[in-house]
Amino acid sequence: MSARGIPYRDKAVETAPREVIEWMQLTALRKQVAAALKTPFYGPRLAERGISSGEDIKTLADIRKLPFTTKNDLREAYPFGLLAVPKEEVVRVHASSGTTGTPTVIYLTQHDLDMASDTMARSLQAAGGTKDDIIQNMMTYGLFTGGLGFHYGAEKMGAMVIPTSAGNTLRQLKFMKDFGTTMIHATPSYLLHLHAAIEEATDLKRSDLKLRKAITGAEPHSEELRQKIQDKLGIEVYNCYGMSELNGPGVAFECVFRTGLHIWEDRYIMEIINPDTLEPVAEGETGELVMTILCRDAMPLLRYRTRDLTRILLDPCPCGRTHRRIARFTGRTDDMLIINGVNVFPSQIEEVLLKAKGVGANYLIIVEKAGDLDRLTVQVEITPEMFADDARVINALRDTLKSEMTALITINPHIEIKQPGSLPVSEGKAKRVEDRRPKA
Ligand code: ADP
Ligand code: ZN
Repeated sequence: MSARGIPYRDKAVETAPREVIEWMQLTALRKQVAAALKTPFYGPRLAERGISSGEDIKTLADIRKLPFTTKNDLREAYPFGLLAVPKEEVVRVHASSGTTGTPTVIYLTQHDLDMASDTMARSLQAAGGTKDDIIQNMMTYGLFTGGLGFHYGAEKMGAMVIPTSAGNTLRQLKFMKDFGTTMIHATPSYLLHLHAAIEEATDLKRSDLKLRKAITGAEPHSEELRQKIQDKLGIEVYNCYGMSELNGPGVAFECVFRTGLHIWEDRYIMEIINPDTLEPVAEGETGELVMTILCRDAMPLLRYRTRDLTRILLDPCPCGRTHRRIARFTGRTDDMLIINGVNVFPSQIEEVLLKAKGVGANYLIIVEKAGDLDRLTVQVEITPEMFADDARVINALRDTLKSEMTALITINPHIEIKQPGSLPVSEGKAKRVEDRRPKA
């Protein structure tokens, strides 16, 4: 593809010289620090470090004077500890997927929402999306940004957007056929599931569909899996990275060359750190991605530890964009599981078990593939007092655990009740999670 054929949304910004990008970053960072100073959460933390105004940030290297922020900090600051504008200016709230209890939330002003949508639109255009596309968004609508966050970006690009949300595969196929859907947004697992459904359908052939591209993300997946989906569906598949804390999908995105994900550096400052020493890694080495958002008035977020592991790709991209690229993610530094695109912490499952009467000390969380989708099984030992052959008692416990877990993590687990002492007891640190899915 010639450089002239590259689809840009904002060519001047997307191909800006490094010095210009850095100047934009510094200007925006000072503004974000000034906003952070107004929040109950960052105010004292910045003062402690001798920062009392945005002007205390003299160069980009001064970012290292700022504190890191973690998911736990966000929970502590729930609901409004990070609010930097009068509440009346907030027009939207989102939260991280799969978490109830104390969720991590974000809030956006109208301007923030416009910026988030513009970032998403830029990403879609980089992937070759146009206003002529008919885009079916198969991600859940609601608090999760994969639904509305993506939706607003696709609308901003001018596409026709069909908000089918997740699930109901037969209806998805019907809409794809009847509306001539050209692009879809779904998790990698769901794309495979969709392919299987197309194969099975008696009233639909692949040639009835106008599908040309899929945008996929929300969970780790390998290059091999991308290839498999591309081959099966005969489409181009683009890797899209995001998280609710950073406004949702489109934070990092593949361009039409699909060789790593560009980070929009006028909207985010990225650092890659060693998660143990918290120092930056050597150029090009793998570490934890740390992000500072530069385009949000309502809720500044400084040096957010994403826990996602990646590295910066050093070779320039043929698309001519100067915003650096990161490699496909290789894992996380914490124990968060991503099950069918939903974030689940083992501690949430434990929370339900600890509250339930009759549950013993030992349990095991198993995540595996069932066809193309993930399946969550929780094996639970009951107490000796509970030990009974009374199927009614056992069934009632199973139902309670199932419904409480579904309410908490938004995923429906299989519960297997085990007799006392029947689960393996590990020596040393208990192994509570078995992730049997093929490694990404
Ligand atoms: P979302 O699932 O919309 O991306 P969440 O905030 O619920 O947003 O979850 C964010 C987490 O999902 C990230 O921290 C990362 O671990 C994972 N994730 C999102 N997109 C990708 C991707 N393309 N590749 C690997 N992991 C991803
Ligand atoms: Zn590129």
